[in-house]
This record gives sequence, C-alpha cells and structure tokens, in this order.
Amino acid sequence: MEKKLDPEHLDLLSFARSADTLSGEGRWPQWPRLAQELFGQAEGEAGLVVWQLQGRTVPQAGGADQIWMDLRAKVHLPMQCQRCLTQVVEAVEAERSFRFVADETTAAALDEEAEEDILVLSRDFDALALIEDELILALPLVPMHGVCPENLPMSVADPEFEAAAQRPNPFGVLAGLKTSKPG
Ligand SMILES: [Zn+2]
Repeated sequence: MEKKLDPEHLDLLSFARSADTLSGEGRWPQWPRLAQELFGQAEGEAGLVVWQLQGRTVPQAGGADQIWMDLRAKVHLPMQCQRCLTQVVEAVEAERSFRFVADETTAAALDEEAEEDILVLSRDFDALALIEDELILALPLVPMHGVCPENLPMSVADPEFEAAAQRPNPFGVLAGLKTSKPG
C-alpha cells in the first residue's frame, strides 16, 4: 500500500522508523512569516523554498532507539539591501538535525545538556512550520550586496540574481535517495 506523507501532519515516529524522505517546494504565501522579509518582486527561482526532510533512528544500547529528523531547506530570498535600499537576492540555507523525545519535561531536561536540538515527539507534526523557523533563523542579519548596483534595473544589475537563476537544483545530489511521491 502506498504511503502518503503530509509534511504538515507528519507522524514522526513512523517517519523515523521507516527512514522516510520527504521533499518539496513551496512559494509564497505558503510561508507567511518568511514572506514578511520579502522585498520587491520575486521572479524565477527567487522566493521558491526547496526543502527536504529525512527521518532516521539511532539505536541505543539497552534502550529505545532515538528518533531523529534531518532538515535541509534553501531559498533565494529577495531582501532589501541595507546600503543602497534596492533589492538584493540573498541565498538562505538551513541545515539542522532534530532529536525527538517523549514529552516537554524530557525535552527541557535534555536541552540543558545535549548539543543537539531537542523537540517533543508528535504524531501530527507541522514540518513546514519548522522549515520556516529554520530559514528565518538563517536569514542574514544585514542583507547587503557585495557590490551595490548603480543606476541599473535591479534584477539585471544583481549578479547573485543571475547566478541564482542558473543554479541547478540544490538537492540534485540527493536524487539517488528514496523520495516519497504524492499519491
Ligand atoms: Zn546594495
């Protein structure tokens, strides 16, 4: 039977135990908090969030397997350059692994000592919100051109924009991995 995975209602336990992979792309307004950072028009690949989630378990000697999820997300986000105040397309990337534990108390206790990010296990987890959180954390503090354009239309003058438009799929290297297809 084909399994359908919904990134907004993810059963993390099953996702990790099956070592499932889930990937996708999303445009505004699917990411409303990220969209607040948007400046000017988002054209072509700019503004498209590309993401991937990988579930996995880590066996523990004498205990239950740990539940983990690896998150990767990337967007070319049109922001306002803080020097020339025109548009600069910033490449924003997030990559983080999360370990899930049974409840808030355990999470709070572990958060003090563990190096990894600890979250509470859920059978109805909104992974898209987590992706948005991570991208917001990864935003540049001060968006700025390397070299500001002068008297040119911004999309033509911005070399990062040109490069972004021609860049291959950032997750192309992972194409060999098992990918869940929508039913
Ligand atoms: Zn600038």
